[in-house]
Amino acid sequence: METSQFMVQLDVKITLFLKEKINPLTLSRLKSILVFFGIGIFLFFSVFIIKAEAADLDRDLQVTVPILLYHNISNDDSASNRYVVDVSDFKKQMEQLRKWGYSSITIKDLIDHISYGKPLPARPVVISFDDGYIEVFTTAFPIMEKLGFRGTVYIVANRLSADGFLTIEELQELIDQDWEVGSHGMTHTELTQNHNLVRNEILQSRLDLENALGVKIYSFAYPFGALDWYVSNKVYDYGYQAAVGVGTLSNHSIGTIYNLSRREVQGDYSLETFSGLLPWTNYAPEPVRKYKPE
Ligand SMILES: [Zn+2]
Repeated sequence: METSQFMVQLDVKITLFLKEKINPLTLSRLKSILVFFGIGIFLFFSVFIIKAEAADLDRDLQVTVPILLYHNISNDDSASNRYVVDVSDFKKQMEQLRKWGYSSITIKDLIDHISYGKPLPARPVVISFDDGYIEVFTTAFPIMEKLGFRGTVYIVANRLSADGFLTIEELQELIDQDWEVGSHGMTHTELTQNHNLVRNEILQSRLDLENALGVKIYSFAYPFGALDWYVSNKVYDYGYQAAVGVGTLSNHSIGTIYNLSRREVQGDYSLETFSGLLPWTNYAPEPVRKYKPE
């Protein structure tokens, strides 16, 4: 509004000034040139202001996405502990997520949102599994598939196809259903105490998995959730776009992309404890089934 008033006033002044000296045709041409010149300068500075604001937004961008961490899903009582969630408990948890309107995304989808601004569905959740137990395929996958959920599974490269662990064929079927496969190291070694092993554990595990599965591996899960500055820098150097740890937060940003906080779902959690890990626990409209970004 102020700008247009200013332009009108300017126009009147220019007209009065020039009228006495120049013939009408030249006057109108001159006015046009001046107006275009003015608009040009205005746009030039506008672009700088908008760019500066966009940069600020990106740096502060916080996205709320709970990242759940499971290990094994089994009814095997002998193994019943923190790392084994009962099948019926897991089923109830997944059904509850559905009722609360969650749509599952992968870590890659989260990276694409944080780094490149790609859209996310309402109430996004990442459902991740560490260590690559075979039950992820035989037990968790059918339950999740029925509810339209995709998962992210972190594989220990030297356990690929080992007894009790996921095979290449099973992983390929998960990948076909839009799951993400990430690396959980070569041998599940604690890396902060073994800096000399990072090349094999972090880089070689990625190359081996990519070779075996024929897909790109984008993210790394720190064994035991343990990291330090050196280890997380190596994850970056060795070509990963993100890394996941263990924590208590559901907010993420570009600053936490190499230590994304995951909420561990332990074997003895009640449905109430489970709901305490989640940011949205009321009923919502029907979520997007099997959400997948373009
Ligand atoms: Zn692990």
